[in-house]
Amino acid sequence: MQTTNLWTTHAPRPTDLPSHPHPERTDVAIIGSGYTGLHAALVLAKSGTNVTVLEQETIGYGASSRNGGMMTAGLKASLKSVVRMYGMERAREFWQWSLDSIDHVDRTVAEEGIDCDFSRSGHVELAYKPSHFEHFKEYVAWMAKEFAYAGGYVISPAEVRTEIGSEAYFGGLVDDFSAGLQPAKYVYGLAKAGARQGACFVEGAGVKAIQREGHHFRLRTAKGDLTAREVLLATNGYTTGLVPAARMGVFPVGSYIIATAPLPPELQAELSPKNRMFFDSKHFLNYFRLTPDGRMLFGGRNNLSTGLDLHESARLLGARLVEVFPQLKGVPIAHAWTGKLGITFDLMPHAGRINGIHYAYGYNGHGVSIASYLGKEMGELLAGKRTSVPFMDIKHPRSFITYFDKLYLPFVAAYYRMLDRWT
Ligand SMILES: Cc1cc2nc3c(=O)[nH]c(=O)nc-3n(C[C@H](O)[C@H](O)[C@H](O)COP(=O)(O)OP(=O)(O)OC[C@H]3O[C@@H](n4cnc5c(N)ncnc54)[C@H](O)[C@@H]3O)c2cc1C
Repeated sequence: MQTTNLWTTHAPRPTDLPSHPHPERTDVAIIGSGYTGLHAALVLAKSGTNVTVLEQETIGYGASSRNGGMMTAGLKASLKSVVRMYGMERAREFWQWSLDSIDHVDRTVAEEGIDCDFSRSGHVELAYKPSHFEHFKEYVAWMAKEFAYAGGYVISPAEVRTEIGSEAYFGGLVDDFSAGLQPAKYVYGLAKAGARQGACFVEGAGVKAIQREGHHFRLRTAKGDLTAREVLLATNGYTTGLVPAARMGVFPVGSYIIATAPLPPELQAELSPKNRMFFDSKHFLNYFRLTPDGRMLFGGRNNLSTGLDLHESARLLGARLVEVFPQLKGVPIAHAWTGKLGITFDLMPHAGRINGIHYAYGYNGHGVSIASYLGKEMGELLAGKRTSVPFMDIKHPRSFITYFDKLYLPFVAAYYRMLDRWT
């Protein structure tokens, strides 16, 4: 087994993607080169703004090249809790915005000619317990009534076998609107699109400090200093104390993935006859799908820590994989890897300005389309094409406790395990 990311192993950083020298000044400095930063950079470069993306490692190093590549409607916070927090009207706006985010990725991939195996494959949420299936039925009826949304439909336990070659579930909730892609090809394609428009990319340029100097900011990076009129922090699960108040609003959680060796076409068709994106209804959920090259990719959060040994993670995820698909017993696990999610206290994405520095983050493991769309809208904001973006005007819970995540996350993990056992 290789402890390497399948996606970048099979689609490494393109050699024709430029890595620019460190400039001394720029109009907009973007910290982080994932979907948030790259979509912002693309919009800014297209509008003629001089924009520089600063990445501490290599382009797309963070979650954007490591994720499951699954785009499903909605936010991580359940729609019912969004209604409770912000009322029905706002919840409808956020719901529609989440649908628009998937269309935005679809459009960007087509317009920029990004070859990233994008497909409107749809998804199935799988009921882990019979009671969860009852919730699915209520939820679909509620969505039709309150959101006029008819995209989701329930399939009975007997019908589940038309969607998945597994006996482990008690029904499902299908939505054909959802999509999948190859995350690394997508992130590199976005960077190439930005570079074509004149965006500057500096790798190995970790930002160590940001200082306000009159109307400008001075950024000290691992490669030198640069001044910028505006700064966008786009570091999500990789956010450090660079802007302390930003760190207090998000904390990192590890998500782990394994991928099998390529499977014979008949076995692929048995496990996932419609090539869906899957996730289950647990709090500690598992997400899985076939990869474009015919492997089963299987992910989850083991104990929320970012430091779990990848062999141990593969053992835990591999055991669950075989519970779901006994047909895969003995099939070699070829890759195991991990990445960091940016979790917020209310499970909502957040954007805003702290001491003049803009930020957008907090996708809670649900960021492929949401980070893309929020990044685009932050780019438009910084290009002067809009005055606000969603999630900028909602309350953003923050606490110094985020600095102590290693201490309290084991307790949060134990709590969620208990919920999975009892609810
Ligand atoms: C294993 C895994 C599976 C996931 N699966 C899914 C999925 O199937 N569907 C879904 O919707 N979402 C999924 N997600 C979440 C999704 O990948 C993220 O929400 C999204 O990629 C976030 O993009 P981003 O640009 O905000 O941050 P990232 O892509 O994490 O980029 C942040 C970047 O900032 C850089 N950085 C940090 N600090 C500095 C600094 N000081 N100076 C310079 N650079 C810095 C980092 O090196 C990193 O490259 C998953 C995440 C993980 C980890």
